[in-house]
Amino acid sequence: MNKKDLEHFGKKLNTEKNMLETELKSLGHTDSKIAGGWEASPSKMDVDNADENELADKIEDFEENSAILEQLETQLSAVNSALERIEKGTYGVCEICNKPIENDRLEANSSANTCLEHMAK
Ligand SMILES: [Zn+2]
Repeated sequence: MNKKDLEHFGKKLNTEKNMLETELKSLGHTDSKIAGGWEASPSKMDVDNADENELADKIEDFEENSAILEQLETQLSAVNSALERIEKGTYGVCEICNKPIENDRLEANSSANTCLEHMAK
């Protein structure tokens, strides 16, 4: 991959990283127990005054946020390892067959680490 392409995908990845981190921060906070882990922030609730329905809603929100956080976290770690591959000079190479990954595929998903043929199902 030439320098110009690497710069292009590097920029895309950094933009994606910033977006993911902003979203993560709006939904949760870093989990100090796990490096790079995120935890959904519990909704502020007034337990004493909340009725049963309100409580159920809050719990549902929390569970929904946890699920979204988990997805964002997975995406962020994929983006981070793609940025590491740019540093190491192994970006854009399929992890399975070592052939260059199609540019179209990288345009659609800059953190892809396999070619179309070896894309995880
Ligand atoms: Zn491959």
